[in-house]
Amino acid sequence: MPELVEPLAHTEIVAGLVQSSREERLPHALLLEGSEGVGKFRAALWLAAALLCERAGDAPCLECGSCKRVQSDSHADLFIIDHRAHAQNAITIDFIVPREHRPKDSYKGSPVEEFLALRAAEGRGKYIIVREAEAMLEEAQNAFLKMLEEPRPGVHLLLETSSAGSLLATVRSRVVPVKFGGVSAPQCEEILRRQKAFAGGTPEDAAAIQKLVRMSGGSPGLALRLHGLSAPAMQELIGSALAGSRSASEVAMELFDLKGQFSGKTAAAQRRTRARIALDIGMELLTDLERALAGMDVAELPHGSVAGPLAESGRFSNGAARRRISATWLKAREDLGLNLSPEGLVDRALLSIPRYASQGAAR
Ligand SMILES: [Zn+2]
Repeated sequence: MPELVEPLAHTEIVAGLVQSSREERLPHALLLEGSEGVGKFRAALWLAAALLCERAGDAPCLECGSCKRVQSDSHADLFIIDHRAHAQNAITIDFIVPREHRPKDSYKGSPVEEFLALRAAEGRGKYIIVREAEAMLEEAQNAFLKMLEEPRPGVHLLLETSSAGSLLATVRSRVVPVKFGGVSAPQCEEILRRQKAFAGGTPEDAAAIQKLVRMSGGSPGLALRLHGLSAPAMQELIGSALAGSRSASEVAMELFDLKGQFSGKTAAAQRRTRARIALDIGMELLTDLERALAGMDVAELPHGSVAGPLAESGRFSNGAARRRISATWLKAREDLGLNLSPEGLVDRALLSIPRYASQGAAR
């Protein structure tokens, strides 16, 4: 569970919802929708904590017993459906119905229906948060629909999604949408500065934050994920291969030495994830290089800090050479689906740079 922290960019939305609840106007099911990583889930958690807080203020006090239990993920009146925290790819029906009714039983936690069967332990209502509600399989959505159709007093459902269109129309029609806007670059920087990962406040931290804000397009959630994947370091490495300042084979080796949280149950699966991230970053960089060469403002591009100087270097003035490099990266990315060595595919993509970029410089 993420830390219980104030959702800086959405303070007003949450305060408005807290107010509605105090006036007993809070709809029993809300759909918190907005772009990925802007802080909707944190806002849902902050809202639930505020409404469960013993001091009943506009925001959780973070000190009372209830707030402490939310922070330690042990509050009896708060239920969070977070399939990623259970290493699941989707929200199956197992998250909803009791164990004896489960077809597959891959989920080891307790289901929502057991939570609902209990009376509110602390008398300030019960809250269910669904993180990435679009990950609910149809069967799970239908089971959820029952809860939406038969609202129980004091029970509030907070569904978070960046893809409301993926939900069944029957589900959408029974929830009240709350739209979350984007986060400005300064807000995104501030949010990242408050994270443990950058608590040192060093110049390196500040530089890393600026790079992440840019790469993520100002999405704090995405920025943190990119940080966990060493994406900024990958960008630098691939950029140096494109600039010709580092050899392709050196860069390939270093890409596989970077620390990071790459998903996958086996070491081989994690190497494949790492290769996918590296190839994606390379392709995004090549796209930004095209945009920079076309005269777009590099300050607006996620990889502009690397693509801008590359465009100016003249090393990629030959369009045919650029297309060959891009095609090689794309093919390597596609071939990741085959049973080929991830290292070999990254090597192949990187080696296209010296092969074709030198032709570009010669003309
Ligand atoms: Zn409190």
